[in-house]
Amino acid sequence: MKIDVEEIKETLGAIKQVDLTIPFFDQEIQGREVMFIDDIRLVGRVINAEDEFVVTAKADLRIKVPCSRCLEKFEMPLHFEYEAEFDKAEVEHDELDLEESWLDHITLAIPMKTVCDEDCQGLCPNCGTNLNEDSCDCMMHEVDPRLAKLGQLLDKE
Ligand SMILES: [Zn+2]
Ligand SMILES: [Zn+2]
Repeated sequence: MKIDVEEIKETLGAIKQVDLTIPFFDQEIQGREVMFIDDIRLVGRVINAEDEFVVTAKADLRIKVPCSRCLEKFEMPLHFEYEAEFDKAEVEHDELDLEESWLDHITLAIPMKTVCDEDCQGLCPNCGTNLNEDSCDCMMHEVDPRLAKLGQLLDKE
């Protein structure tokens, strides 16, 4: 995950095109297990600015994450702008190491709530059944007794 800036390091304002393929790896992000479906492509450029190298690029990737409601893993696309500045004084061997800021960007790009489908029914809070695939009787057994009585009254009319 490194960009070689040797060819632009002497010229202020010089630009180098960036087209990186980043091998995917599974990662735990904010307590969620995130799977990357294929290699990640990062396309953009790096500019030799005054005191720093500035990288701006677009990232397109597909990930698999657990649904916040039913916990089943599902596939979702992720697009984001990658932007990072590297202080020239801290650049070693004419290479920019994207690894750390890259993870930060991914973390921000993944929504806090990931839902497999707007209509996802989630899990039954009582027995844990996945209500998209199956049904359970919990709701029937847990009718508030006062409501049950009301139901009886209404039935009589
Ligand atoms: Zn779901
Ligand atoms: Zn249940």
